[in-house]
Amino acid sequence: MKYFIEDIAGIVKGKLVQQTDNALIEQLLIDSRKLIFPASSLFFAMKGPRRDGHGFLPALYERGVRNFVVSEEVDTAPMPAANILQVKDVLQAMQLLAAHHRKQFSIPVIGITGSNGKTIVKEWLNQLLDDRYSIIRSPRSYNSQIGVPLSVWPMNESHELGIFEAGISQSGEMDKLQKIIQPTIGVFTNIGEAHSEGFLNGRQKVNEKLRLFTHVKALVYCKDAPEINEGVAALYQQINKGGQGAFDIFNWSTVTEATLQILTIYKEAGTTLITALYKDQTISVRIPFTDDASVENAIHCWCVLLHLGVDAKTIDKKMIQLGPVAMRLELKKGTNNCSIINDSYSADLSSFNIALDFLAQQSQHDRKTVILSDILQSGRHEKELYREVAQALAQRGIARLIGIGDKMMQHQANFRLSAIPELAFYPSVESFIHDFHHLVFRDETILLKGARVFELEQIDRLLEQKVHQTVLEIDLNALGHNLRQYQQLLQPATKLMAMVKAFSYGSGSYEIANALQFHKVDYLAVAYADEGVELRRGGINLPIMVMNADPSTFDVLVQYNLEPDLYSPGLLRAFEAFLKRQGIRQFPVHIEFETGMNRLGFSTEELESVLDVLKTDVFTVKSVFSHLAASEDAQHDAFTRQQASLFLSMIATLQEVVAYPFLRHIANTAGIARHPDLQLDMVRLGIGLYGIDSANTHKLELKEVSTLIATIAQIKHLKAGETVSYGRRGVVTHDTTVATIRIGYADGYPRNLSNGIGKMWVKGQLAPVMGTVCMDMVMIDITGIPHVQEGDEVILFGRELPVQQVAHWAQTIPYEMLTGISQRVKRVYFEE
Ligand SMILES: *Cc1c(COP(=O)(O)O)cnc(C)c1O
Repeated sequence: MKYFIEDIAGIVKGKLVQQTDNALIEQLLIDSRKLIFPASSLFFAMKGPRRDGHGFLPALYERGVRNFVVSEEVDTAPMPAANILQVKDVLQAMQLLAAHHRKQFSIPVIGITGSNGKTIVKEWLNQLLDDRYSIIRSPRSYNSQIGVPLSVWPMNESHELGIFEAGISQSGEMDKLQKIIQPTIGVFTNIGEAHSEGFLNGRQKVNEKLRLFTHVKALVYCKDAPEINEGVAALYQQINKGGQGAFDIFNWSTVTEATLQILTIYKEAGTTLITALYKDQTISVRIPFTDDASVENAIHCWCVLLHLGVDAKTIDKKMIQLGPVAMRLELKKGTNNCSIINDSYSADLSSFNIALDFLAQQSQHDRKTVILSDILQSGRHEKELYREVAQALAQRGIARLIGIGDKMMQHQANFRLSAIPELAFYPSVESFIHDFHHLVFRDETILLKGARVFELEQIDRLLEQKVHQTVLEIDLNALGHNLRQYQQLLQPATKLMAMVKAFSYGSGSYEIANALQFHKVDYLAVAYADEGVELRRGGINLPIMVMNADPSTFDVLVQYNLEPDLYSPGLLRAFEAFLKRQGIRQFPVHIEFETGMNRLGFSTEELESVLDVLKTDVFTVKSVFSHLAASEDAQHDAFTRQQASLFLSMIATLQEVVAYPFLRHIANTAGIARHPDLQLDMVRLGIGLYGIDSANTHKLELKEVSTLIATIAQIKHLKAGETVSYGRRGVVTHDTTVATIRIGYADGYPRNLSNGIGKMWVKGQLAPVMGTVCMDMVMIDITGIPHVQEGDEVILFGRELPVQQVAHWAQTIPYEMLTGISQRVKRVYFEE
């Protein structure tokens, strides 16, 4: 299937407003940062709330892109050799193209929707069926209005089965996804909370999701959720107007008769045995998981396999081999100052490209290594496949490739022809490990990418920095989400300074700054020069303001191009003298005004005294700011307004001597949410980025960024009268099960959470702290919580247990809680 730009113009009903040739299009591009193949890419200039793809055209043209889909008139002068296709709606054009492409194939396609479990069911079906069919599936959880077209686009003649997931957030969206996926077999996983995701009620949400199945031949779902069961019945009626039947129903139930009637679910030794009645026969499967969500997901897969005619015995054999699904890409610290991305769960071209993108976004080390197993993608011409892999690696500037597996060995020549400077190949992980001590891994970012069968996690264990098992997980998607939430409150021209002081409120330094740089914030701010230096060393090139500069750090500021906050006449004159001695002029600085916080900043009189210096060209004043003392509190709104008006009048004084423009800013997180009129030229976003609505406005849907997780070291069964921890303060009044958790006050778990005040999230329930919190450990009462084992994870705050709640128990604020987590707790970053 080949598409030339003229074909595409016809398919999307657009107009080629400029045409140079009839180019062959192979890749669809929506994010200019993800460009790999300029000549054959078609760029769709999408419009988001803050970013407009049209603005990227000239830069992409520079980089060799020649084909563009636009919805606005563009200046073609700087792009004389481009093909420009104008349409009404760029997203819709991409969807039309994908739907047209899908129509060219008459293979079975499984379409999956529901509130939870879509990605797991999709990945498991792939694991269960990939030896029978050549499968194309959505990479990761690409299930949106943009993700679905991109997932379907690579479909080609070699594929025998498609598996795609569809997710929606508004009504009307599913009809579009139905046209692109055109599923022949539907799977409805489940329905979560009724009033969520922008729907009025549960029934409306079910009906909307069911729109994916208007043309299926068979539908798999669980009968036990009444809303789904009724919704399916209604859809069936609707389609079955002529009385020929609408689609085959394949449902399951744990309580009543169904196509697959579940009889027992029995958990033992880390596995679950599920037996069921199917066509009057008792059949069973065993899966290597015991949690309820996995059981539900597995039953859905079971139904699909039975529907496809796979025999019960074979299914049982395959189910026990189901493996965990990596829902996300993780970045963690390795030995010798390396960073490691472990994505050793699957190896197909699209997930490989996503992992490479994630690697390319990391700026902390210049040097990048990829350890890659054979790509297991049936149906592709192998030579072509490995040529494409080599090209993608070379385009990304990968310094070293370590290939593992027979196929990698066999296709070495492709890599040797490419521009990858260092290459090594091993037939197996064992042979690599054997050679490991000869290899050097230092100051680099390493991507581990491979199919599960290769067990690259053995390599991960060799490279990983070993520290104690308590981790602070940082959700980089949530960070981006929170940023967008606040951006929505800003005027389009308002700039944003992200506060990354104190290790980005405890969640990391260059890792967070790197993500923010990727999301194109305008400025970063740190408290001390050292923090700025660490960011510069980590490859951050955004402008950085240092709030607490002092004369001992002047040389560092200049060396690393860090911009100090000059807040007093003394500091200003000292820096002036320093710059003059060095012969430096127009150094970027920020000026802070005191308006009522009474922390740092010039008073009106002090400002008058330094106007003579500011008049000269030793400094370039980049911005002038002040800090609000109580922006979150309505009680003090009059005071806030007073601060703002004093600020503006001081600015007027400054403008009399500084004629050039500079940025004015005063609003922090709560200021953004509560005082839209104080946005001025820039805002300073802090705690809100990390998921906390400090103003309690409930206007925003924020996501927890940091989750603190520890593990259970030991479980004890105690009798009434025994005591727990120092001072014997935890008194056992009845038979009690106690778990010892690997965290203590030295990690930043506050000691005043002792004796039942603090609680932790264990297997879906809250378990109170027993006795006093120790330095490195704490005991909790897990009596009555089923299936808890030594080694299990416990959540101290974050997902499931908001940090605001835990901070409240500890009689402190989330700021202190988050920044107090000790640096010995390992940070793990992930992105879905
Ligand atoms: C920390 C800080 C902020 C951010 O405050 P949040 O309440 O976290 O948004 C803004 N400005 C200055 C000067 C700060 O010190």
